Amino acid sequence: MTPYLLAATATMPEVKAFIGRYPFAILPVGSTEQHGPHLPLDTDNRIAERVAWETATKSLGLVLPTSPFGYAWVWKGVPGCLTLSFDTYKAMIGDLAESLDLWGIKAVYVISGHGANSQVVKHAVRELIHERYGIKVLYGMYQGIDEMLAETDSERWHNDIHAEEIETSMMLAIAPESVRMDLAAADYPPVPADYGKSELSMGHMMQSGVFGDPTPSTAEKGRRWIELASARSAALWLSFLARHGLYQHDGAQ
Ligand SMILES: [Zn+2]
Repeated sequence: MTPYLLAATATMPEVKAFIGRYPFAILPVGSTEQHGPHLPLDTDNRIAERVAWETATKSLGLVLPTSPFGYAWVWKGVPGCLTLSFDTYKAMIGDLAESLDLWGIKAVYVISGHGANSQVVKHAVRELIHERYGIKVLYGMYQGIDEMLAETDSERWHNDIHAEEIETSMMLAIAPESVRMDLAAADYPPVPADYGKSELSMGHMMQSGVFGDPTPSTAEKGRRWIELASARSAALWLSFLARHGLYQHDGAQ
């Protein structure tokens, strides 16, 4: 038995046997939202799904189906963007953690392809999960983004990545048929001084929907960054499991 399994295509007895031996799950979470004129709405879902799977093959866990709706309040009302409210998303994460806890899952890694999800997961862990269930929760964007940013050929837009070189390169590696590179163009919306300290969100600054420059993107960079993201995420996951005494990388449990 490999220490990783894709839940969506597995059967109940397969999952039962798997978690009896490896009681660990990885939950990819994304967002259905605008990514400018050249990337599809499911960009964050595709990236989260791929990085979660590659992370599992470098570590272990039952990879759950990707949650396609996230906390994307900043794009509220933009055609194609679907967001759950903060409280709904928090409750969803709490409910999923309860289900996993009832199965006997000891730890879950919520890997996000969309930055804003993590702040809600943090509150779900604190307010709904930590003191109520035995399951341990690790969460966050896929790892390695600072290293990727150091390798990009384009300038970063302010403090975020969205539909720019990193996401576009990853999508060229994952689903090249869905990327319209002929429509890719740089866009660096001006940033008011009080951005992040007032009601202003990325949504208020949106022009084309791109934040940065997708034009230097290549599939080769995307493959390298998916490899980096999954290697760093796997290392964090394994250290988290070891800190809780749940699994040692040498195989001892
Ligand atoms: Zn994205």
